[in-house]
Amino acid sequence: MSDLRPTGTGTDLDPWLATYAERASGLAASEVRALFAVASRPEVVSLAGGMPYVRAIPRELVAGAIDRMLLADAPAALQYGSGQGLPRLREHIVEVMAEEGIAASPDDVVTTTGSQQAIDLVTKLFIDPGDVILAEGPSYVGALGVFKSYQARVVHLPMDADGLVPEVLEAAILEQRAAGRTVKFLYTIPNFHNPAGITLSAERRPRVVEICRRLGVLIVEDNPYGLLWFDAPPPPPLQTLDPEGVVYLGSFSKTFAPGFRVGWAVAPHAIREKLVLAAESAILSPSSFNHLLIAEYLETVDWRAQIARFRDVYRERRDAMLAALQTYLPNLTWNEPNGGFYIWVGLPGELHSKQMLPRAVRELVAYTPGTGFYADGSGGREMRLSFCYPTPEDIAIGIQRLATVVNGELEL
Ligand code: PMP
Repeated sequence: MSDLRPTGTGTDLDPWLATYAERASGLAASEVRALFAVASRPEVVSLAGGMPYVRAIPRELVAGAIDRMLLADAPAALQYGSGQGLPRLREHIVEVMAEEGIAASPDDVVTTTGSQQAIDLVTKLFIDPGDVILAEGPSYVGALGVFKSYQARVVHLPMDADGLVPEVLEAAILEQRAAGRTVKFLYTIPNFHNPAGITLSAERRPRVVEICRRLGVLIVEDNPYGLLWFDAPPPPPLQTLDPEGVVYLGSFSKTFAPGFRVGWAVAPHAIREKLVLAAESAILSPSSFNHLLIAEYLETVDWRAQIARFRDVYRERRDAMLAALQTYLPNLTWNEPNGGFYIWVGLPGELHSKQMLPRAVRELVAYTPGTGFYADGSGGREMRLSFCYPTPEDIAIGIQRLATVVNGELEL
């Protein structure tokens, strides 16, 4: 029998290398992933990941909801469900969104496997190779990975303290069009930005929406952190200003727990229908078990109080990080986020956040280098610090260690 299977050559041990689709070349493992494996050792203070502090949820609350949910209808929990998501859960999703001022009906909602899958499905629906996606610079690393895998061209828009700059947005759209490119959508994280910590001001929101509407550019609004404000709620979502021009993404990952992998999209009718078809083709139906469980939790637990507890936990940690930065690293620059998980830090001198990371891990502290948050790998002068997971005491220790690293590098 002849064997036409390819064999690996040279240093490449994957015999199927020449067989992959072109889009698979965008699926490269992050260069810092190996270091993060080291950073997950318990002696390392990790200011790197964006992991919610799920220990703040009493275990009995979840266990009780699982019990009740199975007693009520175990066969439904164990069965396939509706591709769009359990109607009962979509009713609650509408209530959660109403907290932020969104008026939608359960029919407008399609659930996804975390909002990450919603990003994937929207990109799949709209992007042909070479199409332009506008995104803040820096932007969410997980979205950039999706955009790359669909061979989009990401054009970053710099922010100032008030977020996206409307004039810069308009100029970028016109410039890309003048260069003969197709601008498909603006991907934006208006609240407590990941990684920049910035919130788009109330004054700019209608201007951003007006520009996109006038120039015919869809907005993809990613809002996993909006309910996690510390001082005052952020301004209403862009979706409230133009429901026909915005695909809005939400998630239970930060307000409940990411382990359930339940997020959602709210989209204008025609887009929503396509999203349901795309979701069905990807996963048939979401997890009925998780949908029933979250519905049960939302119906029987005071989830607003739980979100308020999360706010208290994260506010205290933000304060601890800001105080530690002030004490140990006054030569760095940073912003003061009013919610969410992240502080974006600028490094002094010629320091490079990616090159400095191995030294930081040796000093038992980890952070995320700025380079992952730009499609072109720039951002070496910046880093993201997460305050969501470590305790305030560990945050102080971590920042102190980071100061040893930074000051050591500056002396080189
Ligand atoms: N968007 C942003 C801005 C995020 O920070 C995250 C999680 N880190 C996601 C989307 C994805 O979240 P999930 O899939 O857990 O809902």
